[in-house]
Amino acid sequence: MTELLYMKNIEGNYIREFDATVVKSGDDYVVLDRSAFYPEGGGQPSDTGIIEWQGRKTDVVKVTKKGIIKHIISGEKPAEGEEVHGVINWDMRYAHMKMHTAQHIISGVVYDMYRARTVGNQIHAEYSRVDFHPVNFSADDLRKIEERCNDIIRKRAPVRIYEESRSSLEQRVNEERCNLDLLPRSITTLRIVEIEGFDVCPCAGTHVRNTGEIPPITILKKEGKGKERERIVYKLG
Ligand SMILES: [Zn+2]
Repeated sequence: MTELLYMKNIEGNYIREFDATVVKSGDDYVVLDRSAFYPEGGGQPSDTGIIEWQGRKTDVVKVTKKGIIKHIISGEKPAEGEEVHGVINWDMRYAHMKMHTAQHIISGVVYDMYRARTVGNQIHAEYSRVDFHPVNFSADDLRKIEERCNDIIRKRAPVRIYEESRSSLEQRVNEERCNLDLLPRSITTLRIVEIEGFDVCPCAGTHVRNTGEIPPITILKKEGKGKERERIVYKLG
């Protein structure tokens, strides 16, 4: 098991460098006892960066989580038991954090205004997308969504991350907004991302500590994705 340093609280999302021990050295990957690298999943791309040890350095090109957290390495690998120092590519990660919190804001606003749920999303550093169903946005709707989202950004709302039991969360949030009904029943403890005063949602991604860190959201366009299914494409700034 790898301890993921960004999971526990919002401050962990700002850890850019860390020390760890290699617990497994595979063909093209290493497993660490702890890591600040985000493995791809939940619509957020993997972090990249470097791992250093004993004056040597190698690139982490991707991080995956299929059962175990694998740091995919190009080039030389540290051996099992080696103590290493990891550095994540912060510019890209921070862009993903801002985009991901922005996605939660958009999803929350669209649910509040249209009762349409989020049925897909993909974060990128430059632009991102969220899919909604059932809905059919007009140009005026998109303007209203953008306005309300940017209101939340301007209000500098704090973002918190914590654990909560599923039964407790079920009593205070809307299942559809959170896609709670789609999570396997076997999951009983959830990692919550809360935008204070606006949104509560289970999520394993990385986020900013205050909505004020996010540049204004610009909705670039909408795309039809089937019957009453619509995609919003947005950028920041
Ligand atoms: Zn999320």
